[in-house]
Amino acid sequence: MTAENLISRLTKVKKTGPDRWLACCPAHDDKSPSLAIKELGDQRILLHCFAGCSPQEILDAIGLTFDELFPEKLMDHGKPLRKPFPAADVLEAVSTETLIVAMTASRLANDKDITVGDWQRLHVAAQRIMAARDMVNG
Ligand SMILES: [Zn+2]
Repeated sequence: MTAENLISRLTKVKKTGPDRWLACCPAHDDKSPSLAIKELGDQRILLHCFAGCSPQEILDAIGLTFDELFPEKLMDHGKPLRKPFPAADVLEAVSTETLIVAMTASRLANDKDITVGDWQRLHVAAQRIMAARDMVNG
């Protein structure tokens, strides 16, 4: 399976490097791309949703299987990749989260009401940004 094959099933795809893309995640309501895709050069494709969807959920949403993404003969080789994405891609993928933090801060600064839902979403944004840090290389 090629990355093009996968990418043709996604929306708002943006190529960020020779073997990297950002796209809207098909497994959650994604308005600005938070799914990073990387082609590893040995037929494997790495997927990471910065909102926390699992690769399985992403594949289910577009009707693909793990076997197609990771050819079986290659599963035993290759260690899991640590910090596989460049900072620019990661920042772009979590940009919606930073916007949510800024908007909530602005409401607080203007003495507007903050609902329990707003606080919970703020907490989720902080968690997603912290988790994203672990995916940055360099
Ligand atoms: Zn997702």
